[in-house]
Amino acid sequence: MWQERNQMKCPFCGNEDQRVLDSRPAREGEANRRRRECVECNRRFTTFEEPERPRLFVEKRNGTREEFSRDKCFNSMLIACRKRGVPIDVLRSSVERIERDLFQEFEDEAPTQHIGDKVLAELFEIDSVAYVRFASVYKKFDTVSDFQHIIDSVTRGKAEPSILSN
Ligand SMILES: [Zn+2]
Repeated sequence: MWQERNQMKCPFCGNEDQRVLDSRPAREGEANRRRRECVECNRRFTTFEEPERPRLFVEKRNGTREEFSRDKCFNSMLIACRKRGVPIDVLRSSVERIERDLFQEFEDEAPTQHIGDKVLAELFEIDSVAYVRFASVYKKFDTVSDFQHIIDSVTRGKAEPSILSN
């Protein structure tokens, strides 16, 4: 375990050989932190290794693009769930699921509608009031029948974002 084949240049002398003194997960296992000692100058340094985070862009309705933001997604769900007593953990796993699905389905760009529909599907399972709230904003409801329509879908127990007008 001492000698790993994963070498770096020593930041002090440039030598590429070092002993790894300690290797441990960081950031909840998403990264790896290694304490190293240069075999040439004996000085110690730390390397921090993590996978490069994939980037996904979202094409909005008006044609502009922005990077998908997990925080933004989470916040919009948080607003929809206001005062509904939904545990933060539940929302956090929802967002993780949405993000994971998006990265699986799309190479580098996803239509904004797709993300909204995924949020709707998640909220449908979590809290029906939050679901209706989110739908009313996301689908830009402007008539009572729009609300009626989505409430009907709740009653039927089936999320049907696709049949709603945009
Ligand atoms: Zn060195």
